[in-house]
Amino acid sequence: MSTVTAAAPAPERPLPTPTRESQPFWEGMREGRFMLQHCAACGKVRHYPRPVCPHCFSMESSLPRCAASPRPTSRSANACAWASNR
Ligand SMILES: [Zn+2]
Repeated sequence: MSTVTAAAPAPERPLPTPTRESQPFWEGMREGRFMLQHCAACGKVRHYPRPVCPHCFSMESSLPRCAASPRPTSRSANACAWASNR
């Protein structure tokens, strides 16, 4: 008599809830494009997408643009929350 145990189902991963600022990012990812929000005042990238620029505190943003490399060349994992102190 053998005992076969079924593998436990993988836990469900929560899906991100798009916000007004992050909606273009997630739509781009769905289409295979890496879209980044840019500040309309200073031109710097805002990632993660958010309403206020962490560099100049402007609330104006330009339409997201495709990053220079549409394909990621490496993987990364965030061990802590992103902080912008630059
Ligand atoms: Zn800015």
